Amino acid sequence: MSNKTVEINLTGIVQGVGFRPFLYNLAREYSLNGYILNRGNAGVRLVLQGEPKKIDEFLKKIKEKSPAISYIENMDVKDLITEEIYEILEIKKSESGRGISLTLPPDIAMCNECLKDMKNSNLPKYFKYPFIACTICGPRYTTVTELPYDRERSTMIRFPFCKDAQPESCIKEYSDFKNKRFHAQTFACSVCGPNYKLYNKSNNILIANPIEDILKETARRINEGEVVAVKGIGGVHLVCLADNDDVILKLRRRKGQRKSKPFALMVPSLEVIENYLNISSEEKELLTSFRRPIVLLERKNVNEEIIISNQIAPGLNNVGVMLPYTGIHYLLFDYIGQKPLVYTSGNKSYIPMGIDNSKIFEQLKDLADVFLLHNRLIHQRADDSVLRIHDNKVKLIRRSRGYVPEYLPLPFEVELPGALATGPELATTGAVLRHNRIFPTQHIGNVTHLETYEFLKEALFHMKKLLQIKDSEIKFIACDAHPVFITTKLGKELSDQINIPLYPIQHHFAHILGLMAENKIQPDEEIVGISTDGVGYGDDGNIWGGEILLCSYKSYERLGHLEYQPMIGGDRCTKYPARMAASIILNTMGIEEAIKIFEKLKIYNDLEYKETELDTIIALFKNAESKFPNENIPLTSSTGRIFDTVSYLVGVSNIKTYRGEPAMRLESFALKGNPNMVELELNYSKNNIIKTSDLILDIIKLIEKSKNKPEDIAAKFQRVLALAFADIAKKFAELRGINKIGLTGGVAYNYSFSKTIKEAVIQEGFEFLEHNLVPPGDAGISTGQLIGGLFKHLKF
Ligand SMILES: [Zn+2]
Ligand SMILES: [Zn+2]
Repeated sequence: MSNKTVEINLTGIVQGVGFRPFLYNLAREYSLNGYILNRGNAGVRLVLQGEPKKIDEFLKKIKEKSPAISYIENMDVKDLITEEIYEILEIKKSESGRGISLTLPPDIAMCNECLKDMKNSNLPKYFKYPFIACTICGPRYTTVTELPYDRERSTMIRFPFCKDAQPESCIKEYSDFKNKRFHAQTFACSVCGPNYKLYNKSNNILIANPIEDILKETARRINEGEVVAVKGIGGVHLVCLADNDDVILKLRRRKGQRKSKPFALMVPSLEVIENYLNISSEEKELLTSFRRPIVLLERKNVNEEIIISNQIAPGLNNVGVMLPYTGIHYLLFDYIGQKPLVYTSGNKSYIPMGIDNSKIFEQLKDLADVFLLHNRLIHQRADDSVLRIHDNKVKLIRRSRGYVPEYLPLPFEVELPGALATGPELATTGAVLRHNRIFPTQHIGNVTHLETYEFLKEALFHMKKLLQIKDSEIKFIACDAHPVFITTKLGKELSDQINIPLYPIQHHFAHILGLMAENKIQPDEEIVGISTDGVGYGDDGNIWGGEILLCSYKSYERLGHLEYQPMIGGDRCTKYPARMAASIILNTMGIEEAIKIFEKLKIYNDLEYKETELDTIIALFKNAESKFPNENIPLTSSTGRIFDTVSYLVGVSNIKTYRGEPAMRLESFALKGNPNMVELELNYSKNNIIKTSDLILDIIKLIEKSKNKPEDIAAKFQRVLALAFADIAKKFAELRGINKIGLTGGVAYNYSFSKTIKEAVIQEGFEFLEHNLVPPGDAGISTGQLIGGLFKHLKF
């Protein structure tokens, strides 16, 4: 039978996942000759020649047997008419090529085979060598500088393969099609690859080798209570004991502004913690997946302080846990012991962690006692991802390592070569649009700090570069509607630079747009969206944050919201919940009555400047003569501020030391309560304004009666607030003939709050939309901004 020749073009996640070696070996099985190569961000191309029947079988097997983390989006096959006879099968040098997507996976946790090699004393080149990787595991997004995926376009370019290591050199492994490192790009061995050294704070080497001595000394220091900076895949961790209060308090002191923000833990195995923390099958699956995120796990009712100090996550019912994902993590546990360790991002509060060694020393010299650093460059910084699971839905809090650069597909066709979104200002990300795909950057953080702002720009432009989008292809910039956000200014700068439109998108609309897209809402559909969070600039210039919006992709209508409350002194109310409480009490009761309540609550004790500050608050209120908003007294419908206030009133929080703290503490506290033990109602007005003034008054009355337990009040508060939102949403959905109601915004991380809304919505036959891919918090905003911008731009 005569041979035929075909050209096959594959798109999807087909580079950096062992695809070329897989195809090579499969083609060999079917005695096909020709070549295989990576093409820029366009995918993989094969030209193969052989018996037609064998080619058909080969094509069938591609999808069936493709490597685990790969994903074939499209396989295009065409016959080639050629005189050429292919004598051999080869993997050719990669070419450039331009597609509409990325072919690259996120960073992949070390696989079991590589782990075995690292523990195999008969393999000297790999034994206890932490940089082992293969075709299906190892760093990707953080190490690749450009596509196509090859060693020369990664930070491994500095480490040429060895030619004489025993029993097999790296170049031999790379060239041997039977080897699992055949055409692997980011691996190395102890002979040729990067290595760790242990340094003191002044950048002097304490131990250069062997690795056993380094590990032994590092373990000794950690066990004695020191804090060690350990450089890993996408950045650097601060590592210390997790069972010792003094050590954790020392780390908190050194971090300065980190009084009670929770620290994440790394555990050598889930067995170590399963007696202390609840782990559902969904949580287990994610914890052990190649993504290796930090998953928030609920504490059991046992005294887990034996292995996890209460100082890890003060006042919270859950702790963030992850499993080892790179060689050094496993090796350290071998020397330190089988117990949880603190593994927190190695940065000063609000500044992105250093990724090159000199920056790491500079930033952490007062935080770490010693430094365990390697000499492999990190091209892209990526923190550990953080999430929690509500039933079976993933609520991403920080979407970074293990998730980036995956995209969100939009559920409709779009012909638009490119657009950028700059995100909001706190806990932010940027995002790039290419046709109907949205590529969010890794988590950036609070961009009011210059270094973080630079990080945002750099991550955004790197994503654009990987996607090979030219400046001329960027058709618009989307940003927040807040006129003074630094990201809004960045949007303006960029749009001026290339002379394209800038579309400011209202914050809560953006939250809902992301939710709609991931739930595959169509362009002609409408939903009722509940958007609950801390701060978002509203159309009327007030601070929104408890909104019920009727949304299509094109526009929205504000159906209802929380009653406006004054924030006397503006942002100080965000930091000091007592100040927010004082504002609401004054607004609700007038000065005379309010003063009596202040006395009863001894509210001045919880203000930074005590009585003086309270006097100022009262004076500001008095001078305003109920005419706000004004310069000192903005108005807010924020759900976050109501949570803060109640958290303060029930005695849970008197100061916010990190974003969301009072609300998170309240959620944990409320778990101990029973909402049915107290009477509390929450009403809304005819024009659908939820009366938070009455709510706060009623809560104060409940607290005054000693028979009421604060935990029960907290639980009831969450319930009535959730039901009020659900009620208004349902009412309008019914009225307008809409059957989908969704929930988004930072408060949606609160499990009981979300669950109450979900149940109320489902009970009456509506479909409930929730997040599973886009972060509910502000990290999801850039995605929504792009969708909003797109509909403005294309005038659908
Ligand atoms: Zn591997
Ligand atoms: Zn080597």
